[in-house]
Amino acid sequence: MHCEEAVPEAPGFDTPPGDWQQQLREVIRDPAALCRHLGLDPERVSAATRGHELFPVRVPLAYLSRIRRGDPDDPLLRQVLPLRAEGHAVQGFIDDPLEERDHTPKPGLIHKYPGRALLIASPTCAINCRYCFRRHFPYADNAPSMREWDRTLDYLREDTSIQEAILSGGDPLASPDRRLAVLVERLDAIPHLKRLRIHTRLPVVIPDRVDDALLEWLEGTRLQTVVVLHINHAQEIDEAVVTACARLKTAGVTLLNQSVLLRGVNDDAKTLAALSERLFEAGILPYYLHVLDPVSGAAHFDVPDAEARRLVETLRQRLAGFLMPRLVREVPGEQSKTPL
Ligand code: SF4
Repeated sequence: MHCEEAVPEAPGFDTPPGDWQQQLREVIRDPAALCRHLGLDPERVSAATRGHELFPVRVPLAYLSRIRRGDPDDPLLRQVLPLRAEGHAVQGFIDDPLEERDHTPKPGLIHKYPGRALLIASPTCAINCRYCFRRHFPYADNAPSMREWDRTLDYLREDTSIQEAILSGGDPLASPDRRLAVLVERLDAIPHLKRLRIHTRLPVVIPDRVDDALLEWLEGTRLQTVVVLHINHAQEIDEAVVTACARLKTAGVTLLNQSVLLRGVNDDAKTLAALSERLFEAGILPYYLHVLDPVSGAAHFDVPDAEARRLVETLRQRLAGFLMPRLVREVPGEQSKTPL
């Protein structure tokens, strides 16, 4: 489920208006508006229709401002504009490629790996990424109320082997700070938890999300906090993102990044090297480079394993070791990510 509340047409794309919640409400929500704002051929709208029906377009204005106008091959546009190919069934590409539905012991909780458990802290995202492996996730069945959260958290309280809680979604930072602060307070009170990990794209797509209220609960927790951002191309990191990251670091947060290797977005060594360099400039360490999870609708982004390995070898010759992301795949049933 991705929220589809009625909102006014986005006013323009150079200056995102208002605070982050207003920006969240005023996202671009259809292919026609996206193409109009970017001066793209209206033919692209009809090509996008089926994909939009399957997984709606959603693009914040702050992200839109980093897309080159009139360029249908822009690497940021490729991440958000549906193509006709999304409607084609491709063998091996399925709705739940990571078999997450078999690992949800409580509503809103996914437990796949030893020592850590993942909470679906928000059913919505600020942006809908066309390659998302959760694009078909049944969020409606995994959106506990605050009261229900307590029962879900019992699972964490009872399993003392779990040391790390991971907030995911959707995008967990799409939730209001009041709600997140209460949730983190409850996690804080579980003695065997040591770490809080937050997987989010919001500081990238709406940098104003990193505001005083967010920093307050981040600074207030005793848990060591890691924020794992999701950035696929250096062009996504503008000065507002750099400022947001600097603010997160003042709250004592460790910043990591995971990318997905995507055809037409970042499938060459020069682009990946530029991404690592830019991440480090922004104070973020490259962590994982994931091969695509085979989710239906995203097959056109796939890069074969042999090509991915060659790319990473070329990258290794260009970058210092600490700038090298690890090339991995998530294999259902495995106890950790599988290196390629
Ligand atoms: S922000 Fe993350 S969870 Fe949301 S659509 Fe993009 S990849 Fe998927």
